[in-house]
Amino acid sequence: MTRSFLDLAAGPVKQLAPYVPGKPLSELEREYGIRDSIKLASNENPLGPGAKARAAIANAINDLGLYPDGNGFELKQALARRHGCTMDRITLGNGSNDLLVLLAEAFLTPEVEAVYSQYCFAIYPIAVQATGATGRAAPAYPESHAMAHGMSLGHDLDAMRKLVNDNTRLVFVANPNNPTGTWVDTDALKQFIASLPSTTLAVVDEAYIEYAVNGSNTDASKWIDEFPNLVVTRTFSKAYGLAGLRVGYALSSAEVANVLNRVRQPFNVNSLALVAATAALDDHEHLQKTAQLNAKGMKQVLAGLKELNVRVYPSACNFVLVDCKRPAVEINEALLRQGVIVRPVHGYGLATHLRITIGTEQENARMLSALKHALTPLAP
Ligand code: PMP
Repeated sequence: MTRSFLDLAAGPVKQLAPYVPGKPLSELEREYGIRDSIKLASNENPLGPGAKARAAIANAINDLGLYPDGNGFELKQALARRHGCTMDRITLGNGSNDLLVLLAEAFLTPEVEAVYSQYCFAIYPIAVQATGATGRAAPAYPESHAMAHGMSLGHDLDAMRKLVNDNTRLVFVANPNNPTGTWVDTDALKQFIASLPSTTLAVVDEAYIEYAVNGSNTDASKWIDEFPNLVVTRTFSKAYGLAGLRVGYALSSAEVANVLNRVRQPFNVNSLALVAATAALDDHEHLQKTAQLNAKGMKQVLAGLKELNVRVYPSACNFVLVDCKRPAVEINEALLRQGVIVRPVHGYGLATHLRITIGTEQENARMLSALKHALTPLAP
């Protein structure tokens, strides 16, 4: 009897559902036969790379015949300067996603556990499950939870802590979190990390930290000296505008970095990504422009959504979570037909919610008008 390759796959892999990314523009245009569509589905920077990164990329083209610097010396040096740490505390990744997976590969086995929050970034449960470890999702703050006590749908650190035991190797905290946009209080996060067993690594994912506004701007990277079990991940995919190049990094103790380097592919960050990220790190002007555009766009989108009888969650990111109060898959389909790609998040258990990235002023206006149209019941 022939068996399918799915049957032959490693036990935990058989149970995995693949991550569903935002629809690429080219796919929408191919499938729907339309043009001039816009994508507000993957929290990318509408400005793309800044001038310094673009120049660095152009300069590096001639070296593409060579393998990249597998140790990423220059980028690590620049990051070490930025974070005031030694280079041996930095691990580079093919996007920060790579680092999340490396952490799972390096520290999880079927005998141990990992903890994350309900509605957390979808890669955490996938990375955990792939190793056969037991993943435990702590209930998020319920919808009814007032802002004063915490954020609806956000990480409830007390609930997460209750799931941690001596067998827990990893705890994932996205601050702020995707897809909810929620964040945790600085002191609460610090106390949470301090309360963990010394054998549990706290992974604080700061993919959106550059968009943070007052109250949501916790920078856990400052604590890596204090907590040997803390790992902070960052990315160049969001505010730095380099999502297509794939580069991120982790800050940790030198010991944890050493472990991650054992499972890392030797050339996991490509040469263009290395030079572009090094240049982008110093492009304060571009970062500032990005943050300003996002703040202005967020205002525009929030004002527009207010008119539409939807529920909008507070966000410290470059996207908003919107409860359309109707099956979001249908609303999404109506948006796609108008050439607007956003992200339905039913995969997270949020069946009536859409996650919408803040774009340029024109993109936001087009999205708002398409959403209004999609939410308007058809005339009988
Ligand atoms: N963490 C969070 C919270 C994210 O939203 C994302 C991207 N969607 C990532 C990590 C991974 O991003 P990248 O691999 O591009 O760095």
